[in-house]
Amino acid sequence: MEHKKIAVLSGDGVGPEVMAATLPVLERVGELFGRSFAFTSALVGGAAFDEYGEHLPQETIEVCRRSDAILFGSVGGPLAESDLPKWKGCETRSILALRKTFGLAANFRPATVYPQLEAISPLKRELVHQGIDLLIIRELQGDVYFGEHTLREEGGKRIARDTCEYSEDQIALVAHVAFQAAQKRRSRVTSVDKANVLHTSKLWRDVVREVHKGYPDVELEDMLVDNCALQLVKDPSRFDIIVTSNLFGDILSDLAAGLPGSLGVMPSASLNAQGFGLFEPSGGSAPDIAGKGIANPIAQILSASMMVRFAFGWSDEADAMDRAVVHALEDGARTADIFSGEGRCVSTAEMADAISRRLSTKGGGVRI
Ligand code: NAD
Repeated sequence: MEHKKIAVLSGDGVGPEVMAATLPVLERVGELFGRSFAFTSALVGGAAFDEYGEHLPQETIEVCRRSDAILFGSVGGPLAESDLPKWKGCETRSILALRKTFGLAANFRPATVYPQLEAISPLKRELVHQGIDLLIIRELQGDVYFGEHTLREEGGKRIARDTCEYSEDQIALVAHVAFQAAQKRRSRVTSVDKANVLHTSKLWRDVVREVHKGYPDVELEDMLVDNCALQLVKDPSRFDIIVTSNLFGDILSDLAAGLPGSLGVMPSASLNAQGFGLFEPSGGSAPDIAGKGIANPIAQILSASMMVRFAFGWSDEADAMDRAVVHALEDGARTADIFSGEGRCVSTAEMADAISRRLSTKGGGVRI
């Protein structure tokens, strides 16, 4: 029986609630497919601050180092308390520090619009029914975020400058990640840049094309970022994988996050060059609903499915989890964030249970 060690960092707000709902789903997957998981919990965010006086204690980093993957909940507190030491810099000192510690260079943000949830999607019904299942892969370690930032005065006027820099190694790494991910999906990559203006984008385009030569089974198209933003709203079903630089990815992935209608169904992953990664819901700690048992566990369960697929390479198990989510939605299970009058409104635990009961080894990959 193949065994995997998972560092479980539930964090704050709804994190512990959706995590508690997700671990039994993983255990059920293990039973069905002859896999086993060892979960080791560790503190992060405000929860760690209460215990250790810091947001990412060394002990937590060690638990992650000894594991095959990190399953992360969410961190952060209510806006009104953001000046308290417990919450100040909480996200930067936990998630960004983990990204840095483990060299997590590529961020995966899928956007799947479920036809069962068409009522909560801002898209037109016809678009939803074309099947929207895209994955945005964002480079995480380069771009304007890591360049020099200056503000100076000249002739009594303020002038600001942010430097954008990319090395070909940084681009090649994320391009390989994108083409390999495409081989596990529908084999289409759209590389997004602003090559009509920026030198970093010209290099991006050249390097992505060079790396593409090693993946002849994957189709590649280049697209300018402004057109990509338009197409994401006008014709989102045309995309399989979008690979792009840090800043463009930041903006485009938030645009795509709006398509399904709730953050409660949006998973994400951040991976390093060795395939080690951190898997977490795209949303935050949702303090407005924390402690009520009504948070949607789907984003956390789908993050676990991404872990199983991308960190462990177990596609059948991941397909079974993705399929079970679709079946539970077909059965009418809805947490409050996705309830629009149809089906039945369920709690966090009931939603996870509805998904668990629909897990099965039978059936192919789910592509809506
Ligand atoms: P948020 O994502 O926590 O919440 C935005 C909205 O989405 C809220 O209405 C919330 O109820 C809803 N929502 C989010 N997840 C949900 C779920 N699983 N089920 C149902 N509804 C869900 O964003 P925010 O309110 O701006 O931030 C709250 C805290 O989270 C802040 O402290 C912020 O810094 C932190 N944050 C953390 C992460 C992370 O841990 N990766 C990411 C973003 C924000």
